[in-house]
Amino acid sequence: MKTKKIVLPDSELPKQWYNIVADMPNRPLPLLHPGTKEPVTKELMNRIFVEELVNQEMSAERYIDIPDEVQDIYKIWRCTPMVRATQLEKALDLPSGVKIYFKNESVSPAGSHKPNSAVPQAYYAAKQGLHRMTTETGGGQWGSAMAMAAEMFGLDLRIYMVKVSYEQKPYRKLMMNTWGADVFPSPSNTTDAGRAILAADPNDGGSLGTAISEAVEMVLKNEDARYVLGSVMNHVVLHQTIIGEEALKQLEMTGDYPDVIIGCFGGGSNFGGIAYPFLRENIQKGRKTRLIAAEPSCCPKLTRGEFQYDFGDVSGLTPLIPMLTLGHGFHPADIHAGGLRYHGAGTTASQLVRDGLIEAVDIEQVESLAAGVLFAKTEGIIPAPESTHAICAAINEAQKAKEAGEDRTIVFNLSGHGVIDLYAYEQYLSGALKNYELSDAEIAKTVSVLEKLI
Ligand SMILES: *Cc1c(COP(=O)(O)O)cnc(C)c1O
Repeated sequence: MKTKKIVLPDSELPKQWYNIVADMPNRPLPLLHPGTKEPVTKELMNRIFVEELVNQEMSAERYIDIPDEVQDIYKIWRCTPMVRATQLEKALDLPSGVKIYFKNESVSPAGSHKPNSAVPQAYYAAKQGLHRMTTETGGGQWGSAMAMAAEMFGLDLRIYMVKVSYEQKPYRKLMMNTWGADVFPSPSNTTDAGRAILAADPNDGGSLGTAISEAVEMVLKNEDARYVLGSVMNHVVLHQTIIGEEALKQLEMTGDYPDVIIGCFGGGSNFGGIAYPFLRENIQKGRKTRLIAAEPSCCPKLTRGEFQYDFGDVSGLTPLIPMLTLGHGFHPADIHAGGLRYHGAGTTASQLVRDGLIEAVDIEQVESLAAGVLFAKTEGIIPAPESTHAICAAINEAQKAKEAGEDRTIVFNLSGHGVIDLYAYEQYLSGALKNYELSDAEIAKTVSVLEKLI
């Protein structure tokens, strides 16, 4: 009998997060102050971010203990299941040596991997005695996760939600409201950044970069507020490694070791979360697992971006971050995978792609949704539009192995479910969904204006 699903008992849950920085052959370059171009100080970072998260951001410690209070909340939905996708394998007519597993992060209360970082972020903010937090959200997954976590630790939360999502996804906003957060469509008239953009174009649909500008501006104007974010930064990826640490233990119980690990890629948190513990095994034990980040073709920072210092937001309020980037002025097409529409990649993933330790592929929107529909029809779960990129990449890998007559164990991270993103499926099913061409000239436009600091 094939194993269908493996879940670890509470007593087996990982008690530490894993920090890839400790094992990187080339560590990420430091974040820079945009004015002085010197490495940012902890003091400056502490004005914007929660102190303990800044410590983690700058840490090269290999393992970091998960606080007991966080472990207790994790137990509401963790361990998440490791599932053998037997029905999908059957539909693809795979030989017995080609296996597909998925790690199901969609079982969290917010429906994605995002609470893995939202909960510790809220915990550390409350421990510091803070009361007011701000953040931004694209597709609404991070906003809803953070709303839940903030409420659990008694924090007020103001969320800037990208306007197109705010209008397309009223139920996401209602989730955030139910958990007690205030939600504003971005660009909004509550900040200078938002007002400037609205003055130029009252119909601007917003972007993650703009929403970050608004959330950070709010913090800079309010001494007692701090900004939290759900991807890109090292501390966020760190918290997500709970996924990969569980996955290692679960796969050990199946007797299969993965040849390939796949995650979709927005800023790098769910990908790094599942992949980095396996990268540690590659580096420390000479394992040969391939780690593949799947990004959308219309926002291809890993496959077509440039490695350079760039801002995390549109207005240039954040520190300069060394990353593979399309330029902070890049405006990706309005694809449904809102969580993947971000111009830059996190520092660790950017460096690891450069060093050849992780791979990247780009996936078109229509193909990814088609893979999502096949997954829904076979394994039952309707995946988030973001996650369909990982599913599509996994199917491609399985088909390549089948054609080559090779055995292959493929594991992908199902980063979330799509039950609140059914608009994407409506578009796909009606045939209205399309792919977007992106020319080199378009990328060059926003990349060439970056100051060459590297
Ligand atoms: C936010 C999100 C992503 C993209 O963010 P990463 O930091 O790259 O993981 C992917 N999938 C889902 C379901 C998300 O909510």
